[in-house]
Amino acid sequence: MDLISIIVPCYNEQEVLLKFYNEMKKVIKEMSDVKFELIFVDDGSKDKTLSILKKLSQKDKLVRFISFSRNFGKEAGMLAGLRAAKGDYVAIMDADLQDPPSLLPEMYELVRSGEYDCAATRRTTRKGEPPIRSFFARMFYRVINKMSDADIVDGARDFRLMCRKMVDAILSMQEYNRFSKGIFGWVGFRTKWLEYVNVERAAGETKWSFWKLFKYSMEGIMAFSTTPLYVSSIMGFIVCMIAFVLACFYAIKALIFGDPTAGFPTIICIMVFLGGVQLIGIGVVGMYLSKTYLETKNRPIYIVRETEEDYKDTSEE
Ligand code: UDP
Ligand code: MG
Repeated sequence: MDLISIIVPCYNEQEVLLKFYNEMKKVIKEMSDVKFELIFVDDGSKDKTLSILKKLSQKDKLVRFISFSRNFGKEAGMLAGLRAAKGDYVAIMDADLQDPPSLLPEMYELVRSGEYDCAATRRTTRKGEPPIRSFFARMFYRVINKMSDADIVDGARDFRLMCRKMVDAILSMQEYNRFSKGIFGWVGFRTKWLEYVNVERAAGETKWSFWKLFKYSMEGIMAFSTTPLYVSSIMGFIVCMIAFVLACFYAIKALIFGDPTAGFPTIICIMVFLGGVQLIGIGVVGMYLSKTYLETKNRPIYIVRETEEDYKDTSEE
């Protein structure tokens, strides 16, 4: 019998926790051919989240919980959950019922059939979100997909069900600054995208302020792209070209009209040119730095999806 681990990061979720648990219980009852474990990660909540979790875990042996010493962020919560999960399949869900548990049976079928390694979800609308926030979110996805080779899908939620191989691949990424949306894309594997219309939070408030989201997006760009490090090289090259054009312009002007302020054009051209050379220099340093940066991340060089060994024991039976 397969075991599905459900990871639920919770930060101040006292209003919705029991609602979520009851909804989950319904789905668990429906899917009687699989075993479940619910791993709640309390991310340093300041309300009654932890005491609710303690009670739940005493009452129901499916429930496990991990409680952090302070708020470390959702990324840390997801990592702790993934490390603790023992399941053959692992799903990540929000506690606020924005990720409908009713999708789980379909997701499980898709992954179990072996056709896909992962069933992920994407919301098609951003209804119920401030327009400015949607605008910046769209811009962010456009920019990061240009700058990075990890495929980062607009509107993708963290709600996904993965096979054990994919979870192990994600855990093999040891980097400290974790940007899961990028990591999920980076490890590859065959992903089926399920789409659904955005559901609003069942109760409680969103934990993401605009500023927090902005910082998160910057983290995403820095974790999955080194382009900003050598942008200055490109700028330097452009500035050098400008200096060259300026020099030609002043030379021709001096030939035709004479040179009323002697030395002035020379100084301008030299200044612009040197500015460009310095920018190129900074960009070169950036290129080396980007290599060092990637080396220190110590990411796996490749990830194997299957080999003939995966089929051995089934053929011997
Ligand atoms: N969360 C967390 N730590 C944090 C912020 C959020 O574990 O520092 C959890 C939160 O409890 C919820 C999920 O991450 O289960 C998503 O948070 P939220 O619903 O506030 O984000 P939104 O759905 O508005 O993007
Ligand atoms: Mg939410």
